[in-house]
This record gives sequence, structure tokens and C-alpha cells, in this order.
Amino acid sequence: MAEQTDFDLAVIGAGPGGYVCALRAAQLGMRVLCVDRRATPGGTCLNIGCIPSKALLHASERLHEAQKDFATLGIDVTDVRADLARVMARKEKVVGDTVKGVGFLFKKNGVTFRHGTARITKPTELEIDGDRVTATHIVIATGSAPIALPGIEFDEQQVVSSTGALSLPEVPKQLVVVGAGVIGLELGSVWQRLGANVTVVEYTDQIASGFDRGLCTQFQRSLSKQGMTFRLSSRVTAIEKNPSGARVTYEPVQGGEKQTIEADVVLVAVGRRPVTDSLGLDTLGVTIDSSGRVQTDARYATNVDGIYAIGDAIAGPMLAHKAEEEGIALAEQLNGRAAHVRYDAIPSVIYTQPEFAMVGHTEEQLKADGIDYRIGSFPFMASARARAINATDGSVKVLACARTDKILGVHILGASAGELIGEATLAMEFGASAEDVARTCHAHPTLSEALKEAAMAAYDKPLHI
Ligand code: FAD
Ligand code: NAD
Repeated sequence: MAEQTDFDLAVIGAGPGGYVCALRAAQLGMRVLCVDRRATPGGTCLNIGCIPSKALLHASERLHEAQKDFATLGIDVTDVRADLARVMARKEKVVGDTVKGVGFLFKKNGVTFRHGTARITKPTELEIDGDRVTATHIVIATGSAPIALPGIEFDEQQVVSSTGALSLPEVPKQLVVVGAGVIGLELGSVWQRLGANVTVVEYTDQIASGFDRGLCTQFQRSLSKQGMTFRLSSRVTAIEKNPSGARVTYEPVQGGEKQTIEADVVLVAVGRRPVTDSLGLDTLGVTIDSSGRVQTDARYATNVDGIYAIGDAIAGPMLAHKAEEEGIALAEQLNGRAAHVRYDAIPSVIYTQPEFAMVGHTEEQLKADGIDYRIGSFPFMASARARAINATDGSVKVLACARTDKILGVHILGASAGELIGEATLAMEFGASAEDVARTCHAHPTLSEALKEAAMAAYDKPLHI
């Protein structure tokens, strides 16, 4: 049978934005093509991002627990070691099974998946490795790629991006991480727990910038206790490779003497840039902003009729679940349904130990916007469940409007914070007040009681502290 070349919707990129958009559009009856230049679907997230990093975080966290925490629980184990080859093989299997799952979903829903590099030749036409395909609507879901430091290219051996850091063949003795953002802290934690000495050099004066400042101080203390070293307010100015690794030069942002650190491997994690080049967008006249992101309106439409964009390729946080929500909303809008994404209720999680999760506003943002708010905090040290499971690091902070008690932001540092933030996100999605959460019955003993207590503290008084 001849290959189909005419579609209702063609999606470029099979990451969480693109594949989810393709699936939802097919569910709603469209004839859908999804094309990706990577042989396996799933994009950055499933292949070289969220999923492999979480597989390594999990394995290294269990190792750390066995080596450092089991004795506290009364469990004696000796000579616990990681076999890096097996750790990596398991990570690859998790990735393989997950991307196969997307292939299966494509088949189940009748989405045509093509492996190839796409370029948009007309508002209703794509060229995929020389073949022409037509589609009524085209979605750019081409994602993002790591940013390199000026003049310092990734060789993925000595100077690595997150992609290289997910597959190092051995544990480096000295790992220098440039950037204390999400990638630097997650992958820095992985290698630190596997045995590397990790030094993180960060430009700003706090780690995890964008997260609650007060909790960031606690977070840094926890990571330092585990063995990570931080050089804050420091700018990396040079990385010189040598036969044994690399020498990293950094200087205080405020000015001052340069310092150097020797490293076997340097992970550069200073952010990601949208992938919008070589799609033919300039020829078509699609507007790109100064950061290279495709400019869209609130319905993900570009300035060229029939061409849309979602995910990391457009403005907003570079998060898989944000891309997914946009993919669903766009597919539904194209099929005449009312759908939207609520951007002030998108959670963000750093999957270290403790985990760090937030949704909504930070105190800094509320102050800048002149909004009066009340704070309710509850430390996990006061939670019976946290004590029982040896996870007393961290606390919950609820920010509620001083006038209406509506929840404006929730910040959680602690074990399972990434799961706990789901309740806070749902509360915000439904416009809940702190009192609503405080009066909701929470199972005992659970970590979620700490969220209830913080909500009680925001509108009145907590009980257990
Ligand atoms: P992508 O997933 O980047 O997919 C875009 C796809 O488009 C790619 O597969 C690419 O090959 C394809 N493509 C590009 N150009 C073309 C072309 N011309 N023709 C054909 N195909 C093309 N986010 C989270 O929410 N949680 C996490 O825990 C998390 N962990 C991460 C860990 C790491 C190490 C990294 C790097 C990222 C992580 N992220 C995480 C971010 C997340 O991966 C991205 O936000 C998400 O993948 C964006 O989805 P997307 O669909 O917009 O783009
Ligand atoms: P980031 O923006 O989170 O952090 C980059 C850090 O590098 C910043 O703190 C910045 O101040 C610092 N920096 C920049 N230049 C520097 C220099 N010359 N010297 C020292 N420090 C410097 O970026 P990232 O960690 O690369 O992550 C990229 C994206 O991937 C993020 O937007 C994130 O949303 C996404 N991601 C999400 C997750 C998750 O949700 N768990 C995990 C990984 C990645």
C-alpha cells in the first residue's frame, strides 16, 4: 500500500508536547502524522531527560540509603556497592520500555510515526528527508537543546551536557558542575552518591534559583551535608581540557581573584535553548523572539495561518508536563473544543533527596506584585510519619492571600515532595483556600499531614507544633 502523504495534522517532534498532541488529535478523529529525527519517539524527556535521569536518581538514592541510612534503621549491611554497568543497563531498559510504550500508543490510536528530519516548505507542506507531505495544520514541537558556554564545546566525554552526564562510563573522581539549576543538582546528586567529589559553581547567590529562597537555604544545607560543595556568586570563565580532564576557572561575580578547580569531568548545565533553526521558519516568516522561541498567541497559533507551536520551543517553563498540557489543549482547540492551560498552577519538582517542589507564586513574586499574603509553615521534623521513615529534613510552606485566604503558592522541601505537590496543585486549580485544605481529612500517619498543618498555620494555627 502506498504511504499516506496527506494529513489533517502534522506534528514535528515526538517529545511530550508533540506525541501527546498527536495522540489527542487522533483520539478526536484527525488523521495525524508525527515526525521525529530521533529513531525512537518520546523526545528529550523519555530518551535523554526526565526518564533516564530519574532511573539514575532512584538507583543512586537507594545506594546512598543502604550505605548511610540503613544503620540508623537497625539494618546492618556491609560492602554495598554499585555496579555502574548494571545501573546503566537498567536505565537503558527503563528508557527502552517507555519509548516502546509511546510507539504502541501511536499504533493503538492510528498515528503515523515517521523517523526523519522535517522542514516546513509551505504553511500546509512539510519536507521530510526529501519526501513531501501535506497537512491542514502543522505543529512545531521541536523542543530544546543544552546551551554551551561561549567558546567551550561539548565533547560529551570531558565537557559534558546532561546527555553525556547520563552515560558516563565510570564514576569521575572530581566532577565540576557549572550551574546549580535543576539539571546540575539532579545529575550532580547522582554522581555524588555514586562516589564522585562534586563541586557546583553557580552564577547567582542561591542554588535552585526561582524556588523559595528560605527553603533554598535549607536545601543547600541538606545537599552540603551529603557531600556536595557549592561555589555561589561565581562565574565560570574558562574550561581548559588536558589529558587527565579539565581545569575550570571561575571568578566572583562581584569581581575578585580567579580560582581554578581540576576535574575529570565538567558538566555544563546553564540552561537550554529552543530548537527552532533549520525548520525553514525564516523563509515562511514565522516570528521568533530574541531567545529563539517561536512566538504564539494564547491558542498556540503563530503569525502564519495553519502553523502552531508548543512545549520547550515556545515561552514558559521548560517542563514535560507543561508541554503535554499544551499539546492536549491545542489538539482540542483544533477540534472545536474549549481548552486552556492554567499557567499559574504548573508544578515544578527537583528530584534530589530531599525533593524540592513548588507550585504557584514565591514570596518574592508576591512582594513584587504588591499582594498581601499570609505564610503557614510546618517542618517535617514535627511529622510522626517523617520521623518513622527517617525523613525529617525540610518543611512545607503555604502562601495564602491575606484578604481571601486563597492559596497563592505552595513550597515543599522533603521526601516525596514531588508527589505531595499534586494535592497543592489540585487545590490551586480549584481555587481552594488554605482553610479548605486544612479542613480536608488527611490520612494518618502520612507526610501529607504536613501540608494540612501548613495550611492550618496559614489561616489560623497548626496543631502539632
Ligand atoms: P522535546 O522533548 O525536546 O522533543 C522535541 C523533539 O523534536 C525531539 O525528539 C527532536 O528530535 C525533535 N525534532 C527537533 N527538530 C526536528 C526536526 N526538524 N524534524 C524532526 N524532529 C525534530 N521536565 C520535567 O517536567 N520533569 C523532569 O523531571 C525533567 N527532567 C529533565 C532531565 C533532563 C536531563 C533534561 C535535559 C530535561 C528534563 N526535563 C524535565 C525537561 C523536559 O525534558 C522538556 O521540558 C520536555 O522534553 C519538552 O518537551 P517537548 O515536546 O517540547 O520537546
Ligand atoms: P536552569 O536554568 O535550571 O539552571 C541553570 C543555572 O546555571 C542557573 O542557576 C544559572 O544562574 C547558572 N549559570 C548560567 N551561566 C553560568 C556560568 N557561566 N557560571 C555559573 N553558573 C551559571 O538550567 P538547567 O539546569 O540546564 O535545566 C534546563 C531546563 O531543563 C530547565 O528549564 C528545567 O526546567 C528543565 N529540567 C527540568 C527538570 C525537572 O523538572 N526536574 C530536570 C532537568 C531539567
